[in-house]
Amino acid sequence: MNKSKSSELYKTSSKYFPGGVNSPVRAFKSVDGTPVFITKGNGAFVTDADGNEYIDFCASWGPLILGHNNKKIKDAVVAAAEHGLSFGAPTIQENELAELLINNNRFVEKIRFVSSGTEAVMSAIRLARGYTGRDKIIKFEGCYHGHADHLLVKAGSGLVTFGSSSSAGVPESFVNETLVVTINNKEAVLKAFEDYKDQVACIIIEPIPANNGLLLQDKEYLQFLKDTAKANGALLIFDEVISGFRVGFEGAAGLYNIQPDIVTYGKIIGGGMPVGCYGASAEIMSCIAPDGDVYQAGTLSGNPVAMSAGKATLDILIQDGFYKDQEKRTLDFVQILKDHISSNGYKLKIPTVGSIFWITYGEEGKIQNPDQIDAEVGKYFKAIFGRLLNKGVYLGPSGYEVGFISAAHTPEILKKAASILIEVLDEVNNDIGLK
Ligand SMILES: *Cc1c(COP(=O)(O)O)cnc(C)c1O
Repeated sequence: MNKSKSSELYKTSSKYFPGGVNSPVRAFKSVDGTPVFITKGNGAFVTDADGNEYIDFCASWGPLILGHNNKKIKDAVVAAAEHGLSFGAPTIQENELAELLINNNRFVEKIRFVSSGTEAVMSAIRLARGYTGRDKIIKFEGCYHGHADHLLVKAGSGLVTFGSSSSAGVPESFVNETLVVTINNKEAVLKAFEDYKDQVACIIIEPIPANNGLLLQDKEYLQFLKDTAKANGALLIFDEVISGFRVGFEGAAGLYNIQPDIVTYGKIIGGGMPVGCYGASAEIMSCIAPDGDVYQAGTLSGNPVAMSAGKATLDILIQDGFYKDQEKRTLDFVQILKDHISSNGYKLKIPTVGSIFWITYGEEGKIQNPDQIDAEVGKYFKAIFGRLLNKGVYLGPSGYEVGFISAAHTPEILKKAASILIEVLDEVNNDIGLK
């Protein structure tokens, strides 16, 4: 496969941007080679600067649940842009997207739009602190919540540890307010509340952790978090930036039927435009300025073009059977792979939820916390990723990233992708062994 134009473009971009990219994981650091530059997307496919076409499972890291360049979204964006791009004053489009969201979601009564997932989570935590008057937050090892300072933390080896910063430039004093807790471990949560009685503002979790592999939690554990937060006067934040509108219109809260105190959305809610959102009960949201004293603002928040893209997207997702169909195509696709994996005795597994899947290396059994991820994952992923790319299948370039299936991934396209994957797995098995 010729990738010479992408290589040239990467040389140029490396002069302008650290690592040649504007977000680190795009740089192909954990896989061989250099990134392909994408020139266009259409349905389930993207095309690179050399004209190579790929079946895309990255989906811009999740937002594109309707596939690339969906006509309804494009038309809505163009129609909104006809009237100007931004006003910094209220617009009808904000009301329309909010109405669709709130009227079809049992878990939030009021929302605030922002421009990214990071911003949504950062604001949700400020809200939890403002509402409770407490400073500490509990976060789980293996959950990603964007790049706000107090959330860029890694834990030591204990059940509960003070966060130590996992990024240069983050003062230790900031992350001292972040308690990092082992996920899928009730004792760890209880201990954190015991050690820091009346100091914890909130527990934040990805109810479907999908940024460090796919670490599916049990409903019962999520309910325990809700009950424990409540018993201790703390709030529960569901970070649904990935899972929101992905596993159902009401996200993971709806799937598990658990009422979080604050929910964050991002990715899909903007239909490919930069939108984030946080929401809660009217009572909790009344703390936000100008009603309350928790300050949060944004020059481009609720941008009318972005709102229109979100509305066009959600109008389709709300239709009967949308999520059922997504899940069925995903399960059928994964089953083809699983059959091949088991009949060959490959040491691979593919957890799924809704239209999210994760191809990983390891023994049988559930993977519910990062310690259960096989240390060899990177090596096998690299071997699989490079071969797939050369045969026209694009995954997110890291073994810890999940794959996304969109409405544009028809059963035929998925069958094609599965047959390429099977070819690649057999090659990798021949080269470095998968048993
Ligand atoms: C992607 C993501 C974020 C960050 O969103 P950005 O739009 O990249 O800032 C936060 N939380 C979760 C769970 C995410 O998946």
